[in-house]
This record gives sequence, structure tokens and C-alpha cells, in this order.
Amino acid sequence: MPELKKDLYDVTIMGSGPAGLTAALYTARADLEPVLFEGPQPGGQLTITTDVENYPGFPDGVMGPELMDRMRAQASRFGMENHISLIQDVDTSKRPFAVTLDDGTTFETQTLIVASGASARLLGLESEDRLMGHGVSTCATCDGYFFRDDELVIVGGGDSAMEEATFLTKFASKVTVVHRRDELRASAIMAQRAFDDPKVEFIWDSELVEILGSKDEGVTGVKIVNTKTDEINEMPCKGVFIAIGHIPNTSIFEGKLEMNDDGYLITKADSSHTSEDGIFAVGDVQDFTYRQAVTAAGSGCKGALDAERYLEALHAGPSSK
Ligand code: NAP
Repeated sequence: MPELKKDLYDVTIMGSGPAGLTAALYTARADLEPVLFEGPQPGGQLTITTDVENYPGFPDGVMGPELMDRMRAQASRFGMENHISLIQDVDTSKRPFAVTLDDGTTFETQTLIVASGASARLLGLESEDRLMGHGVSTCATCDGYFFRDDELVIVGGGDSAMEEATFLTKFASKVTVVHRRDELRASAIMAQRAFDDPKVEFIWDSELVEILGSKDEGVTGVKIVNTKTDEINEMPCKGVFIAIGHIPNTSIFEGKLEMNDDGYLITKADSSHTSEDGIFAVGDVQDFTYRQAVTAAGSGCKGALDAERYLEALHAGPSSK
């Protein structure tokens, strides 16, 4: 059971990826003494990647888990209180909001910054889990660079799969899209772009049954089943990109905060304000377009400044900066 320092906080942050920890850094430096709950995957999605080469300030790259440790240390230096716990419920009918943790602990907060992120939807294969970060990836922008002149497989038939397939041809010698049906879900324009790319090939009506390889040698190939004939074939490749959608971590806000059809929190134009005054959404939980560590961090900063201004108005007095 976490030992909370207060019964009433000015700022509570849900989630410990780049968005949550940046929100914590800014609100801690503004003397708002934030409390942050790390959630089920402390450090967020970057903890399942290896080298991060596109986060500014690290000319030689940085390992994802190390980057998150550094962000956590930076926020802690300014007084962030953090706990490895899950927020289970937020009563938005009360002011201050009443928060309940998964162990039943309750407390109150004037503002909540939701930075609970989104999780890449996965196939659920044991080999996918084992080789994640060792040739299996859920982010072409992050990891495509590592596969120069290699043959790659990408799974999915939506806009993400098409966008990532064409993006990956910048590096790869060939990209094979494996889709479970014989028709794409992607928009016509994105599909056409992939069809027109001479390096992109399609395998229809097919699913991955196994990803071959080991942590040491990386991915060496895939086993694919044709769902119409049940025929299984092996195909060599060096990398597998899973692009079958994301699931925003918003289930506890159903019926409480406005979401789009896919469950992403809706924020008001160019801000982090949600449909509930005092609750702010930052990072991938409200961004299904950019989904980068650096955009999430920027979004966390916006959430912190929005929360700070909201608290200033609430307390009707000047706050520190
Ligand atoms: P999506 O549209 O939900 O597509 C997911 C794809 O993965 C579908 O083709 C689906 O197959 C397949 N799939 C799902 N579960 C699977 C499983 N277990 N095994 C194998 N295949 C599976 O997701 P998305 O492509 O990430 O796009 C999400 C949203 O972002 C969409 O609204 C999209 O338009 C938008 N987006 C826009 C852009 C852009 O405009 N630049 C870029 C990326 C994404 P089925 O088709 O058979 O269901």
C-alpha cells in the first residue's frame, strides 16, 4: 500500500511515460508537489524498445529504459512523489476529485493529468513477446533505421500498416505486408501508395503463427498460415513490424470523459483540457497521429502549464513558476 504524503494534492499524474514524467517535472518545478502513479508498465512503451536514436539531446542514442530512468530522476530531483500503483477510479462528480487506487487507498486531487498512454495491439504469440526489441517492433519510425537492406514483414491492413510499409522501404530491400483478409482496411490513398511502391509486396488471407529467431541472432523468419487453405509456409526476414492498431488506456474514464470512437480522450483545440474542467490529457492517450516520445514529452509540458493556470484561477492567487 503506498504511503501517500497528503490527503489532498494539487496535481495527480496518471502514467509514467515521457508525457507523465514531463508533466511531473514541470509541475514539480512550479512547486505544485505532484504525485505520480506509474501504472502497469512503469516508464511506458519506451521501456520495451532498445536504442532510441531520435530523442533530441542524445547524439549517440540512448536505451529506452535508460531514457525513462533519467526522466524519472529529473522529476524526482524537483520533488515529484511517485508510486508504483494503479489508479482504479476517479470520481469526477466531486470537487476536489476523489481518486481510488487498486488497493483501495483513497485521496483527493484538484487536478488530474491523464498520461496513461496507449498500448500497441499485439498478436499474442509467445515468439512475438520473446523477440520484442530483438527484431520485433511496434514502431517503424523508431526502429526502421536498424534494418538497412534487410527484408521485413509487416502485419496489418490499416493505415498504420500501409504508412509504415512505405516508410520502411527507405531502409529495407523488401517489405512484405501480411494481412488476415483479402481486402485492406486502409484508406484508398494510403493503400494505393503501398501498391505503387515496387519494394512492397502483399500476402493475403494470412496470419503469423510464429516468429523465428532468438534474442542473440534476432529475427530470422516467420511462419505464416493461409487462413483459407491452412497451408503453412516459412519466409525469411530480419524484422517484423506489428501494426494492428493501438488501444488507449482509458477504460476507467468511460462515461466520464469525452472520447472518440476508438477510445482516445478528446482534448479542446490546441490544449490539454478534456471535457471535464480540471482533468487534462497528454501524450498517446489523446494522440493517435504522432505517437513519438518527443511529442508526448511536449504534450506533458502543455498539460502541466494548463494545470498550473487552472490552479491559479482556482486559488485566485499568483503561483510560482
Ligand atoms: P486499424 O485501422 O484499426 O487497422 C488495424 C489493422 O490490423 C486491420 O487491418 C486489422 O484487420 C488488423 N488486425 C487487427 N487485429 C489483428 C490481429 N489480431 N491479427 C492480424 N491482424 C489484425 O488501426 P491503424 O492502422 O493503427 O489505424 C488507427 C487509426 O489511425 C485509423 O483511424 C487510421 O485511419 C488512423 N491513421 C491514420 C494515418 C494517416 O492518415 N496518416 C496513419 C496511421 C493511422 P481487419 O482489417 O481484418 O480488421
